[in-house]
Parts: sequence; structure tokens; C-alpha cells
Amino acid sequence: MDTTLDRLDHDYAASIAERAMRTMAEQRIPATPNNFNVWFHYFLGAPDDLKHAIDILIDNRRAFDSRVNQDLFATYIEPSDITIAATASGQLQAVLMAAKQYLANAIEDNQSHMQAISDVADQTNAGLDPKGLVSQLIAELNKAAARASKLEERFDEKNRELDTIRDSLSKSEQRAKTDTLTGLPNRRALDEFFRVVQIDAMEKGEPLSVLMLDVDHFKKFNDNFGHGVGDQVLKLIGQVLHDKVREGDLPARYGGEELLAVLPGANLGAATAVAERVRRSIAECHITRRSTGELLPTITVSIGVAQFQPGESMNELIERCDRALYRAKQSGRNRVVTEAELETALAAAS
Ligand code: GH3
Ligand code: MG
Ligand code: MG
Repeated sequence: MDTTLDRLDHDYAASIAERAMRTMAEQRIPATPNNFNVWFHYFLGAPDDLKHAIDILIDNRRAFDSRVNQDLFATYIEPSDITIAATASGQLQAVLMAAKQYLANAIEDNQSHMQAISDVADQTNAGLDPKGLVSQLIAELNKAAARASKLEERFDEKNRELDTIRDSLSKSEQRAKTDTLTGLPNRRALDEFFRVVQIDAMEKGEPLSVLMLDVDHFKKFNDNFGHGVGDQVLKLIGQVLHDKVREGDLPARYGGEELLAVLPGANLGAATAVAERVRRSIAECHITRRSTGELLPTITVSIGVAQFQPGESMNELIERCDRALYRAKQSGRNRVVTEAELETALAAAS
């Protein structure tokens, strides 16, 4: 991103900054550095997905309050792959240097061979015996072939190194996106996934839903059986959630004992059915303590479900989902509550 800025012409940058400031004033967006960053990049037209997201928000006539701006900043500007990119580009540089060297040597060899061939032609034309020159040329060609194959070997070796680096980069990226206890994707992976499916849902006009699960009375469970046993139970619940969602869905660990699943293509009804299957499977698990064989008490979870509204941020969606989850807790736990039920309750109360 900075490189784009580095290349910006000063006057052009100033005109973009002016447009950003004007829009912020019009929309009454507080003039903080982060908010400015968002709008500056919008008028710059990069990154692509930031521009795309804002255009969709404009189409949906969304107000740009500081909350929306904060979300845009956190989603599109803040995350940075700069370190990973820098390491990889360093290695790429080395491979490119080897390739350049390879080419330079080949060109140099070629030039001296062309010269030798033209010397042979001159000698033949002059009626002289080119035998000596020809054998010199052959010896030279042999040496050049040996040099080329050595360089090729080095080039291949560098390429293999690059493959290893690429592999370890992708593994470490994977690790950075995985929760160590449950093995589920973590918050970072969730943010990334949501960014993609949110745009996808808006473009295709398809539904997208989220379910959020919280273990019932988990504190008491930990107190009674120890944190280690609690950890194993959490792992098991993660496994059930993982098994009950579809291939293109994203089950994730949201926080301590809160798991979440993003379900692209699912409307509220479909997501509720998934949530109900998850809830039931967990309640039906018979968990025994490995060390003693003792049967542990039934573990249950409460689940909230909400459907994405075009233009809203992930935080807004999760907040509604969390309210539904809270209602599930209030109304007795071990149950699924959807955002639609929140509205019904609200209507009944008014
Ligand atoms: P509720 O039904 O209202 O959700 O009750 P609760 O006891 O589950 O809720 P509370 O938020 O009071 O407690 C959450 C507990 O979850 C407390 C904390 O020790 C436990 N917890 C959070 N993360 C982990 C974890 O990684 N491992 C274990 N073993 N426990 C965890
Ligand atoms: Mg909790
Ligand atoms: Mg809990």
C-alpha cells in the first residue's frame, strides 16, 4: 500500500486528500487519522475491495458513522501482509538474480562463439586452413555448455529453495489463522472469510447467516472437573460444530468458550436448522473422563442465529446474533434462538 503512495504525484495526492476531507465533512465523519486513511484510499481506488465495499454501502444508502469507518479501517486498511510479502520477495529476488546471471553468461558466451565462427569463415574465405580455429571453437563450446549446466543447476536449486519457502510461508500463515486448542479457524481467519463472503452475498443477492454458540454453565463445569477436562470438552464441541456445517461454511473459535459458524447461502431458517442439529448432537454426547472412566454430566450449549443484512458490518451482525444467544440463555439454555424471535418479543412488549 505504501509503495502505491510512494509513487503518487504530490499534486494528485493533494487532490485525493482534498476529496477525502470534503466527503468526511459532508458525511460528518470525525477527522481522525484512521477515518482519513479510509477515505483517502477510497478516492485513490485501492485496495480494490475497500472501494468495492464502500460503493456497496453507498448503493445501500448506509450512513458513514464512526463505527462504520472503524470497521472499514480494521477490515481493509489495517491488516497487512507486508512481512510475509517482504520475506518472499527477498527470496524471489535471489532467484531472479540467478536467472539474470544465467542469461548474462549465455549471451556473453554466444557473442564470443559468433565471433569465433566469423573468424573461421574469414580464414576459409582467405583460403587458410581453419582446423586450429575449429578445434578451439569446439573446446570453447564444451566449456560454455559445462558452465551453462552448472548455472542451470544453481538456478534449479534456488527454485527449490523458493518452493520450500513458499510452503513454509503458507504453513505459518495457516498456523496464524488456526486456534491451537480446537484446531478451528480463529478470529483472524473469520475476519478474512467474512470479508469475502459478505461481498459475495451482496453481489449475488444470496443469503448469509451466522450462528454463535456458548457453552452452558461452563464455569461450574471447570470448577467441578478442572480446566484441563474443560479444554477437552471445548475441543469436542469444536469437532461437533466442524462436522455439522457444510464444506463451504466456516466454523471458528470466536472467544473463550464461544464458537461461531458463518454459513454462506443459508437464510435464517436454514441456519437455525444447522444450529438445532449442532445443539442436539452436543446434548446427546456421552462424555467419559479418560483417566477414571467416570461419566461426566451432560454438556449443553445455547445458540443465537442471525442473517446478514446487505451493507452491515460483521460486528453489527454478530451483535444481533449475540443478543439472540443472550435470549437463549435467559430462556433456559440448551436452546436455539433467532433474531426473528427478538423482534417478536420486542413487538409483544410494545
Ligand atoms: P453461561 O451458561 O451463562 O454461559 O455460564 P458460563 O459459566 O458458561 O458463563 P461465564 O461467561 O460466566 O463463564 C465462561 C467460562 O468459560 C469461564 C471460563 O473459565 C470458561 N472458559 C473460557 N475459555 C475457556 C477455555 O479455553 N478452556 C476452558 N476449560 N474454559 C474456558
Ligand atoms: Mg461466554
Ligand atoms: Mg458459557
